[in-house]
Amino acid sequence: MTTTATTRYLDSHCHLQKQHLGPVIDDILERARSTGVARMFCNATREEDWQAVVDLAARKYELIPFLGIHPWFAETAMTGWEERLQVLLKQIPAGIGETGLDKCCRADFGRQQQIFLLQLQMASELRRPLVIHCVRAWGRLLEILEHFAGPLPRVMIHTFAGSHETLQRLLKLGCFISFSGKLVTNSRVHPCCLATPLANLLLETDSPGRPLARDAINGPGTTDEPAAIVKLYELAATMREMDLDKFCQEIWKNGAIFANTILPR
Ligand SMILES: [Zn+2]
Repeated sequence: MTTTATTRYLDSHCHLQKQHLGPVIDDILERARSTGVARMFCNATREEDWQAVVDLAARKYELIPFLGIHPWFAETAMTGWEERLQVLLKQIPAGIGETGLDKCCRADFGRQQQIFLLQLQMASELRRPLVIHCVRAWGRLLEILEHFAGPLPRVMIHTFAGSHETLQRLLKLGCFISFSGKLVTNSRVHPCCLATPLANLLLETDSPGRPLARDAINGPGTTDEPAAIVKLYELAATMREMDLDKFCQEIWKNGAIFANTILPR
């Protein structure tokens, strides 16, 4: 297994705008840089944190901003959010996310669908990559994506933990499938990761807030942040019997294709 000084890792999903990280964010980004994590897709979860994501991304070119409303916060979305999001997206090269559907949270499912559909439409119209969170709502999600009237935007399913059949239908739609520490903590995920073609594969920490996955991959007491993704890459490359450096290059390329319309040129 080889890496070179130029090995670049992508963390395809994180939330570094979280307020409690404020005092340590520079250290987190420095550790990311020194371990080779050279790009991070930083996802907002509700309107209140859009600006924090925008500000962070403006400071650090490694951070690529995604702005959206997470299904957990569907009911807190205030009137006019979609216009305000449009305005921001026209000013800033940002993706849309994280959004999606979640049947295990309290937010009204009808409202979740309404909000998700608007973000899907916006991503299609503005040609922005879309990050989807889906928990126990695969049937409805697939129905929406498979019957979507416009051209589908580039879609990433983050922290995939669905069935093999779901995976196949998502792949048919051209979705990118992103795997997190659940690759270690959930036995169903391992075969799905292996069944995902290399060209559709992404890896993420979903940090901060994933101590279980962190412990499983890096051991207790280690940090829950993008730098911790290196072990996940090593694991996934070993699963595929691939050289780590080559594997990193392929995943980096996938991230660049997914976020093609918003990456700095
Ligand atoms: Zn997330």
